Amino acid sequence: MEKTSPGYVAASAVRDKPRRRHSRAGGLAGLIWPQRSLITGREVAGPGALEPELWAKLQFLSDPLCQRCGTPFDIAVDDAQVCGACLANSPVYDRARAALVYGDVSRDLVLGLKYQGRRDSLALLGGWMTNAGAGLLADADLIVPVPLHYLRLVRRGFNQSVWLAAAISRSSGVDLSVDALKRIKSTPIQGGLSADGRRRNVQGAFRVRKGREARIRDKKILLIDDVLTTGATAEACSRALKRAGASCVDVLTLARVAAPRGIPI
Ligand SMILES: [Zn+2]
Repeated sequence: MEKTSPGYVAASAVRDKPRRRHSRAGGLAGLIWPQRSLITGREVAGPGALEPELWAKLQFLSDPLCQRCGTPFDIAVDDAQVCGACLANSPVYDRARAALVYGDVSRDLVLGLKYQGRRDSLALLGGWMTNAGAGLLADADLIVPVPLHYLRLVRRGFNQSVWLAAAISRSSGVDLSVDALKRIKSTPIQGGLSADGRRRNVQGAFRVRKGREARIRDKKILLIDDVLTTGATAEACSRALKRAGASCVDVLTLARVAAPRGIPI
């Protein structure tokens, strides 16, 4: 995968970083179980969980953003502004938001979660997502994670999107349905595919599970995933949810490419 071009990221789109909090209990626990960096595994001071130099490289997203797809804008715009890609071709979902720009450090956080099962990152990452998606969570009736095909779930043993969704449900109080969506096609890993390739790859890959339709119908759904790249997966899930009668589908991810919609990484 290529790195996200920092050129796409407006300085104004990167907000102040959340403060790294320390507590007496955390300090005591830190003496007994030293805090390890979520990326390097080295000991770090306090519950920030990242070395200061890595922390400094994280790019948190905030307005101005496209109000539909969440792409950061370079200049301040009015509240209802949408990007050219959304004007030309509206996404299936209603709104997408992310906590971070997908770059070197956020990619390592995602990989740690996805392939090493770093559950110790969930409180931090879920907290960032809850902040970034506050407006979406305020409207949501139900949180639904992007599912894995059962063969991949058996191989990996967990679904990191379910973990993130559970953390966000706990911190926000919004209901969670971990199995409302089902992945019915085992699709190859999407990295390296073009935007069209990704779209074809996930076409018809998801559906609402039998017996879960009543939880979806006329509900505002907040779909959770780790990363949004071209948005092909988010759109395929949103299509399945809307076919089942969802009145609105928003998307919240930990990270997203800062490039306009349709450009793969
Ligand atoms: Zn847009």
